Amino acid sequence: MEKYFETNYDLVIVGAGSGGFSSSYWANKNGLKTLLISSKPIGGTCVNIGCVPSKFLLDKSKILEEINKSNLKNLFRELSFEEREALFLSFLKETKQYVKELQKRNYLDVLKKFENVDFLEAKASFKDGSVFVEDKRVKAKNIVLATGAKPFLPPIEIEGEFLTYRNFWDLKELPEKVVIVGSSVMAVEFATILSRFTEVTIVFRSSFLKKFLPSQSEFVKNEFLNRGIKLVKATPKKVSEGKLITEKGEIEGAIMFCTGISPNSESFEVEKDKRGFVITDEFLRVKGFNNVYAIGDLNGKLPLETTAALEGKVAVENILGANKKVDYNKIPSIAFSSPQIARVGIMEGRLIHFDLSKLERKSKGFLDLFVKNNKIVGVVVGGYNVEELINTASFIINLELSPGRVSEITLAFPTIGEAIKKASLSTFHNLDETPCCIN
Ligand SMILES: Cc1cc2nc3c(=O)[nH]c(=O)nc-3n(C[C@H](O)[C@H](O)[C@H](O)COP(=O)(O)OP(=O)(O)OC[C@H]3O[C@@H](n4cnc5c(N)ncnc54)[C@H](O)[C@@H]3O)c2cc1C
Repeated sequence: MEKYFETNYDLVIVGAGSGGFSSSYWANKNGLKTLLISSKPIGGTCVNIGCVPSKFLLDKSKILEEINKSNLKNLFRELSFEEREALFLSFLKETKQYVKELQKRNYLDVLKKFENVDFLEAKASFKDGSVFVEDKRVKAKNIVLATGAKPFLPPIEIEGEFLTYRNFWDLKELPEKVVIVGSSVMAVEFATILSRFTEVTIVFRSSFLKKFLPSQSEFVKNEFLNRGIKLVKATPKKVSEGKLITEKGEIEGAIMFCTGISPNSESFEVEKDKRGFVITDEFLRVKGFNNVYAIGDLNGKLPLETTAALEGKVAVENILGANKKVDYNKIPSIAFSSPQIARVGIMEGRLIHFDLSKLERKSKGFLDLFVKNNKIVGVVVGGYNVEELINTASFIINLELSPGRVSEITLAFPTIGEAIKKASLSTFHNLDETPCCIN
């Protein structure tokens, strides 16, 4: 233990999640003598309680939705609540097993290979420009703070138990009714999973999926309503033993808060915004310090695994003398709900709306293309099996392609991915008057 406080490190990283691991990788690769300090769980939110288990469970539970949707429905009898519960709990068990394997493979085993990185399992604080473990100061030339976040709870009176993305994975029984508070990406993902097994009501205060235009989020809203998910626009006032009390009345069920995140910044003496997110400049440096960086969910800029990983790399590059900034508009984000909705870029300029039902491979949904100065600057897609499309859009936006250039590229037929080309083509042709075989 003493060696950690005697060594003069080039870099100390606090937090071994997506951001901290990315910084550790790049620091190790560049030969920086590094100390990574973190409390459990190693790997942080994404692998343990975030992206990985939620997508695993979404994929696993999709079968229930497929059976319900397809013509095969009549071949299957309706499952009883007890049968759905047994299935839910067995899927949860498989999810936990998968998380364990991935945590070992992608984090614990990888850490052993970082020859320039020491690891200390501990809780750290930051004051007077240094990192401390208890009252012991770590000697380091540079610091990366990457302690992530926890679930944010609205400031209302809460009596009794409730769910968040933290304790959801430890459920021992399937609630007969779930009330999801919030209308974020996370809310629609959990609503999708749970609605495949049980009754779900979403209670939201203001706009639904506010990262999207009302016309875009309306699509998800309508599809949810068609699938029997209830949507109530109301302000939560109180939680009282399995009831959410709003100005419009009481709603019964297990309450799950999907109301955003709150940064793990309590033990850091740095400048923060009113929600506690650490304030940084465009180079990710903490306000007032030249050698201290805050990355990932801790700075609250765009709380995604991809952001944390990119910022972790950029912070190390800046420590090594670069002056790099992160372009958050180039980072795609997806709600992996059913239907999915995803965006990348900015929603400015001319809007070209394309209806996915016009594709040969008929699908329900839309693709919105935003064109400014003859460049595609933003793409929003909503529909079923459309998530991969946002990666194509990401290439187009990063390469700053025009609708004309995209129209010239041959895409495989018949696919849903053609939507982006068809939308581009529609800037030059009336697609209602063209054969589907125009290239
Ligand atoms: C349900 C859910 C689904 C998600 N799905 C997606 C998705 O599909 N795609 C996507 O891109 N993103 C997704 N995210 C977001 C993504 O998980 C986070 O943005 C990302 O994990 C943040 O990484 P981080 O490194 O900033 O923090 P974390 O991964 O939270 O890591 C922080 C680490 O710091 C440690 N720590 C905390 N305080 C201290 C301290 N004082 N001292 C030492 N160590 C400390 C913690 O124990 C933890 O190990 C999802 C999140 C949730 C909750």
